[in-house]
Amino acid sequence: AKENGKDQWQCYDPTMASESYRRFILKNDLQRGIARGELTLYYQPKIAPETEQIVGAEALVRWQHPDFGIVEPGYFIPMAEESGLITQLGNWVIREVTQQIQRWSALNVCTVPVSFNVSPKQLVQSEFVRTVVASLEAAGIEGVCIELEITESAMIHNDHVVDTIRMLQNRGIKVSVDDFGTGYSSFGQLRRHRFDALKVDKSFVDSIAFDKSSATLVKAMIQMAHDLGLRVIVEGVETREQVEILRDYGCDEIQGYYYSRPVPPEEFETLLRQGVTM
Ligand code: C2E
Ligand code: CA
Ligand code: CA
Ligand code: CA
Repeated sequence: AKENGKDQWQCYDPTMASESYRRFILKNDLQRGIARGELTLYYQPKIAPETEQIVGAEALVRWQHPDFGIVEPGYFIPMAEESGLITQLGNWVIREVTQQIQRWSALNVCTVPVSFNVSPKQLVQSEFVRTVVASLEAAGIEGVCIELEITESAMIHNDHVVDTIRMLQNRGIKVSVDDFGTGYSSFGQLRRHRFDALKVDKSFVDSIAFDKSSATLVKAMIQMAHDLGLRVIVEGVETREQVEILRDYGCDEIQGYYYSRPVPPEEFETLLRQGVTM
C-alpha cells in the first residue's frame, strides 16, 4: 500500500501493473529512490583480446526498486533526463565510482580505469568539471583512474563542451565517444575534439561474423581510430567468433556478455583478484 498522501493511489500490485502504469509509478518514485540510496552501480569488464586480461571497466547504474526489483537504466535514465533529476543521479554516480576505486585500492586490489556515462545535460553544466575534480580529491585518487563516456549528441550544439573536455583531459581524465557510428555527425566530431577512445556500438558487431559489409565497416573504423591515435573498444560482443574477428582487426578492448555481464562490485572485485575472466 502507498501511504504517500500527494497522489490518489491507495494500493497497487506491481505484478499486475500495465506498462504505462509502471512507468508512472517509477517516474514518481525516482527522486525518492535516489535520496534513499536505492541506486547501485554494476561493473562490466573490458578485456584486451590478445591477453584476455581485464584492462578496464564500465560502471552502469541499476535501481533496486522496493516493489519492482532491479530496474534497468534504459528505463529510468530517459525519465531522469526529462525531469532534470539526471544531475543529481549523475553526481551520485561520480561520487560512487570514485569512492569504489578508493575502496579497491585500499584493499590492494589491482585496479583498472573505470568509465562511467555522462549525459549531455550534465556535461553542459558550468560546475561539471568542478564536481568531477572535487570527487577525485575527496577520494584521494588520480584523474587517470576514471574515463568519461560521452555520446555524440552531447557535443553537437555546444562550444563550451570543447573546453570542458579539454579541462578534464588536462587532469589526466580520459574521454571516450560512446555509441560511435549511431549519431549523424560522428566523423566531424572526431576532428573537433581530441578524444582518447572510441566505443563502437553493438549494432555494428551483431552481424560482423556473417555480413561482409559490417565486417568491412568495423575494420575501417578501427583503422581510422588508430590513425587518429584513439583506442578502440567494441561493445556488445557475445560470441567467440566475434572476439576472434575483432582481435584480428586490432581492436584494443572488448566489452560484452561473451566475457561477462555487468556485475555487482563484490563480484567484479573477485574478477579483478583473478585477473582474468575466463
Ligand atoms: P551504454 O552506455 O551503451 O552501455 C552498454 C549497454 O550494453 C549496457 O546496458 C550493457 O549492460 C549492455 N551490454 C554490454 N554487453 C552486452 C552484450 O554483449 N549484449 C547485450 N545485449 N548487451 C550488452 P545497460 O546497463 O542496460 O545500460 C543501458 C544504457 O543506459 C547505457 O548504454 C547508457 O546509455 C545508460 N546508462 C547506464 N548507466 C548510466 C549512468 O550512470 N548515467 C547515464 N547518464 N546513463 C547511463
Ligand atoms: Ca557507455
Ligand atoms: Ca555504448
Ligand atoms: Ca548504447
